[in-house]
Amino acid sequence: MNGATVGKISTAILFVPLLSMAFEPPTPGVKRAAIGDLTGLPATLQHAFAPDSPEFESISKPEPHDWLAVHKEPGQTFDDFKALGPNRPTATRRVIYLQPLGNFAADYSPSLEKLREFAAVFFAMEAKVLPRAAVDASQFTTRHNPYAGNLQILTSDVLDFLKVRLSPDAFCVVAVTMEDLYPEPSWNFVFGQASLRERVGVYSFARYDPAFYGEARGSNYETLLLRRSCKVLAHETGHMFGLVHCVYFNCLMNGSNHLAESDRRPLHLCPVCLRKLQWSIGFDVVERYRALEKVCRTDGFADEAGWFSQRIKTLRSQ
Ligand SMILES: [Zn+2]
Ligand SMILES: [Zn+2]
Repeated sequence: MNGATVGKISTAILFVPLLSMAFEPPTPGVKRAAIGDLTGLPATLQHAFAPDSPEFESISKPEPHDWLAVHKEPGQTFDDFKALGPNRPTATRRVIYLQPLGNFAADYSPSLEKLREFAAVFFAMEAKVLPRAAVDASQFTTRHNPYAGNLQILTSDVLDFLKVRLSPDAFCVVAVTMEDLYPEPSWNFVFGQASLRERVGVYSFARYDPAFYGEARGSNYETLLLRRSCKVLAHETGHMFGLVHCVYFNCLMNGSNHLAESDRRPLHLCPVCLRKLQWSIGFDVVERYRALEKVCRTDGFADEAGWFSQRIKTLRSQ
């Protein structure tokens, strides 16, 4: 599903039709057109959005089960994005709220404070964690998954819960949970769902824990779970700003059909998506990269910290 057309997005489903829809990576001309006309922008932004920097990799051809092998997506240029009139932060609506739902046990959940910090740095905005809400049966419809038997929460009930509690200073509020989710009875599960116009979303980290699949939690478990959780938080919150899936570069906003594909997706935005977010929020690109490098180093994301460090060097040399 596509947030631009139906207003609601669901990030992934288990049973997808395996149709062959050949996706061809875009040409340099298509990528330049997606970034749009840069004339008139300050030089630093022109450099930041240039498509030919070595840090920006062309999008890979999808493997048979990957998102773009089974979902035909036209892409969203910077001009398309602006024409949509997406929600933007204002002097009043300027806070990203995280609403923990259910238990976040310290030994198998990502740190809420680290998630908050990452969101604040990624979006260069204030981010706050709300008091935890219990998975109360009178408030949320739940079921046991018909195949695996694990507890699941109905996403629409969570979105309704958030809508009536939306704070006047909220740019958006996103529920995060270690419980599994489902969007309607016929679906097996969903990683997350958001209502873009209504500023509410819910994302589950349950399936980012190897133990969910009966696998051992390795020695790097905490870093792995935190990295996956930060990635999905930034991707899904990116949708709340009106960014749809990216088809131009390897990018955080690429769609993902399964865990291995999510893991391949980088933690940074390509020039098309970066331009959208920068237009929306108005941050200093290099300052944001510096803060991201620092938080990635602190959190043990060495490769990602290296990418941001290289990116700062490239921009400084121009
Ligand atoms: Zn998505
Ligand atoms: Zn992108």
